[in-house]
Amino acid sequence: MDVYVNKPRCTGCQHCKDVCPVAVYEMKGRGTPDNPNAEGANGDSAPAEAQWAGKIDPADFAKWSKVQDGHKHFAKDNDGTSGGLSVAVNGPSCILCQACLIQCEGECIHITDDTGTKYVSIYK
Ligand code: SF4
Ligand code: SF4
Repeated sequence: MDVYVNKPRCTGCQHCKDVCPVAVYEMKGRGTPDNPNAEGANGDSAPAEAQWAGKIDPADFAKWSKVQDGHKHFAKDNDGTSGGLSVAVNGPSCILCQACLIQCEGECIHITDDTGTKYVSIYK
């Protein structure tokens, strides 16, 4: 299984990490303007356009930045509950339960199974 997060769209809500039964995700800091990957934000298989380069998707920022639901959105660092952004550091362990796909408010998780079938977030 291949799993990656489209980083510019990730709010850092941490839902994916909290629901994944096999620890595919880790939350990483957003680094610095000079080095967005300073804390390993690009440590999964995301293609170039889905890697973290320090720029949040403007539509996702507009949608989530003012939402108060107990989770940090777009915070630079993670405090144990949310913040930073998610990295699929352990994609091969994915069992395709799809829990993260349902919970991903940034609609930014991409999974490809061993047959090449692709799955994406379906947050409503
Ligand atoms: S689909 Fe895979 S990555 Fe997502 S929660 Fe389930 S096991 Fe974890
Ligand atoms: S659930 Fe989606 S938006 Fe939230 S931290 Fe995970 S990848 Fe990012």
